[in-house]
Amino acid sequence: MSKIYQSDVVIVGGGLAGLPLALALAQGGLEVTVVDSLDPAHVTGAGFDGRVSAIAFASCRMFAELGVTQHLAGQMQPINDIIVSDGRVREGAAPTFLHFDHQEIGDEPLGHLIENRHIRIALQKAVEAEPRIRLLAPCSVTSVEYGARAVATLSDGARVEAALCFAADGRGSPTRQAAGIKTVGWSYNQTGIVCTVEHELPHEGIAQEYFLPGGPFAILPMTGNRASLVWTERTADAKALLALDDAGFAEEMRDRFGDYLGVCAPVGPRWSYPLTLQLARDYIRPRLALVADAAHGIHPIAGQGLNLGLRDVAAAAEVVVDASRLGLDIGALTVLENYQRWRRFDNVALSLMMDGMNRLFSNDIGPLRLARDLGLGVVNQIGPMRRLFMRHAGGVVGDLPRLLRGKAI
Ligand SMILES: Cc1cc2nc3c(=O)[nH]c(=O)nc-3n(C[C@H](O)[C@H](O)[C@H](O)COP(=O)(O)OP(=O)(O)OC[C@H]3O[C@@H](n4cnc5c(N)ncnc54)[C@H](O)[C@@H]3O)c2cc1C
Repeated sequence: MSKIYQSDVVIVGGGLAGLPLALALAQGGLEVTVVDSLDPAHVTGAGFDGRVSAIAFASCRMFAELGVTQHLAGQMQPINDIIVSDGRVREGAAPTFLHFDHQEIGDEPLGHLIENRHIRIALQKAVEAEPRIRLLAPCSVTSVEYGARAVATLSDGARVEAALCFAADGRGSPTRQAAGIKTVGWSYNQTGIVCTVEHELPHEGIAQEYFLPGGPFAILPMTGNRASLVWTERTADAKALLALDDAGFAEEMRDRFGDYLGVCAPVGPRWSYPLTLQLARDYIRPRLALVADAAHGIHPIAGQGLNLGLRDVAAAAEVVVDASRLGLDIGALTVLENYQRWRRFDNVALSLMMDGMNRLFSNDIGPLRLARDLGLGVVNQIGPMRRLFMRHAGGVVGDLPRLLRGKAI
């Protein structure tokens, strides 16, 4: 006889967005079941995900509120400054650049850089400490039926019955596809190469982003004298770079990195990610809501993908917890519409802004280069504009849910 679990909410996907969603809902008094296909021990291993995430100031407040930050001691690198410049391989940065200094908007850093592996470890610890969360993993959701309850069938034959199903199952979201929700988007014909670099001199918490003709080259400070590269190239060029031996790859890397941090060398494995834009047309159906990459996959040019996902999480949890406190049916379309209205416009606007930036900067066309260099220079000269960009990067602009304001759910 297969097991049947009863729950207020079932979440498909216990990744970087699914687990914070479970914590937020559980803190709001709901019983939550999370199902993930992957083994929790595997996803926290050193070989699974080499990325580092820029967690914006507002998202950091949410992690603190959800009890995640206490498990991240020694793993959070503050982002003090961000320097953006135009450049060419082997020529260094153009003289006109944009400098964001956190001290202009307060004492707090603009955000923190945290290795995805450590975020996952901290999330798992916080989830283990929360009695209202049941985590079923490794185990896949094979189908979901929506009626008086959402009923998820699992790969081991068990079922989870809940008032509401959240799809936090990533860009490919089988739950979104099975619900017939269409997406719009395109491929950038770019690949993001990710690796860690050790360097001689301290980085002082300064993140650098060079716009090179193949795409942005981001140097993100990590704890210690280390940086994480997010190196975007046209896909054919990325394949050739990834095929180089260690010495050849290091040489190409140094041609772009420069020597401002002294002697430097890539260490450990190289990862690569094909880059696409993908936006779901709808976020909701009766008893179903999409969050994070299941709803929107964007270009990593400004490290905002997960931050947008965490905004969805904070907004969705607030809408659902408030409805439950009023005794409403949390899976009803009238409740879920409040979430969709809150998040869809913001997500589309930011995704298209990232898309436009990537198009404007990922080329070497003379007049465009001149125009964008002048643009960077103008923004850098105008204090209020510079501070607005910084507040956007920190995620504190717009109608913020309680968790992103550092308040309890
Ligand atoms: C190169 C690169 C750099 C990035 N840098 C940043 C950054 O600096 N800052 C930032 O904010 N964002 C960044 N992002 C974006 C960020 O990584 C994503 O937005 C984030 O990982 C999305 O998390 P998610 O939980 O929605 O999806 P995922 O991480 O894809 O998780 C989905 C989960 O669902 C599970 N799943 C799927 N199907 C099923 C099923 N049928 N049953 C059960 N479980 C299932 C999977 O096992 C997985 O654990 C970057 C992205 C890239 C590519």
